[in-house]
Amino acid sequence: MNTQTIIDISIPLSPFTIVYPGNPQIEIEEIKSEASKSTISKITSGSHNGTHIDAPKHAIENGKSISDIPLDVFIGHCRVIDCTADTEAVSRETLESNHIQSGERILLKTSNSQKGYKEFYPDFVYLSPEGAQYLSELGIALVGIDYFSIKQKGSTDNRPHTLLLEKDIPIIEGIDFSQVEPGEYTIVAFPLKYMGIDGAPARVVLLK
Ligand SMILES: [Zn+2]
Repeated sequence: MNTQTIIDISIPLSPFTIVYPGNPQIEIEEIKSEASKSTISKITSGSHNGTHIDAPKHAIENGKSISDIPLDVFIGHCRVIDCTADTEAVSRETLESNHIQSGERILLKTSNSQKGYKEFYPDFVYLSPEGAQYLSELGIALVGIDYFSIKQKGSTDNRPHTLLLEKDIPIIEGIDFSQVEPGEYTIVAFPLKYMGIDGAPARVVLLK
């Protein structure tokens, strides 16, 4: 028996899932086959809906696609960092105070998780460009954040995407940390095996 606790930090996917403005909504159409008496569903969705992973191709020309990233990046030790005191953006200072090491998987818990995911709000907490630069220079393995984008809505400063993705650091977006205390865990976050595209949904869990 597995004695580890599994904490599901994925957002439920349905036609009611909020999506980032401009992204395709999730549509699910149930199709019944009279002949075989079976049910299948036709699913329509953007690649960045719900809990999902950004690949370099999302923001970098000729960058790696989601299927190019080795799976060992998506499983292993991780740290959930408490960023709830940062009310606008996760600052470099907050990251520095956590003594992050090269090669770590770092998940940013902000106040977004307390607000929930029932409606979209544009003033979500994002990763500051200076914070992204710090994590990029450190060379972490993976970063995650608890809203549908890691960068500020409406900002033309794309560094939170580009600085991380040009170093082949995948970004998990749309994580729900409402039931998660900061600390150390094992993460399992395998993206669906869509070939050659910019990102894909993932069922992301923490093991304690
Ligand atoms: Zn994304």
